[in-house]
Amino acid sequence: MNQKTYTVVPGLNMGLFSPKDLEKIVAIINKYDVPMTKITSAQRLGLLGMDEEEQQKLKAELKPLTRPVAVNGVHYVQACPGSQWCKFGTSDSLALGARLEKLSFAEPLPGKVKVGISGCRMSCTEPYVRDVGIFATKKGWTLVFGGNGGGNPRLGEVVAEGLTDDQVVDLAQKCLTVYQQNAKTKSRTARFMERFGIDALKEAVLAK
Ligand code: SF4
Repeated sequence: MNQKTYTVVPGLNMGLFSPKDLEKIVAIINKYDVPMTKITSAQRLGLLGMDEEEQQKLKAELKPLTRPVAVNGVHYVQACPGSQWCKFGTSDSLALGARLEKLSFAEPLPGKVKVGISGCRMSCTEPYVRDVGIFATKKGWTLVFGGNGGGNPRLGEVVAEGLTDDQVVDLAQKCLTVYQQNAKTKSRTARFMERFGIDALKEAVLAK
């Protein structure tokens, strides 16, 4: 068994499983005798130590339980339980996350785009260190752009506050379009924003 072989299951609803779906997933995991499972930092399910051939068969069986991946979309969306499940939540981060997972673009984005959405200011999904970070306040959604939590970290900058669901989805799409049209290949939003600047981004997306 090659312990470095693994697969990550995409699109499992931002880490949220219904008990029935979880039962089905566990049955498949047991059928293929997966040596170890891990909840990843992206709120996905890593299946570790699998044989390459078995991995393909397991992926096919899991497909009906996973979300389709958007064309040229974001790498992943993390969302907290929000107002549906958390007593502090003032907005529905899971519903918003489902909309952002569907964002698609005519061309691939220049680099990985990670999205973090939080249903209140406590910001449990760390939106300030995500490429697109969104958190709720009593006034509506705040969108921050250009954050990164990696080896060269950067805090994202606020683009706009007090947004409705439709406005924040639209603004995320516009920010990512500007990034797509102006960033160098493989440049993450943090490096792009250091060069492009928040004022230029605001001018481009808030004037449209
Ligand atoms: S960010 Fe707020 S709503 Fe979301 S899990 Fe944390 S405390 Fe709850």
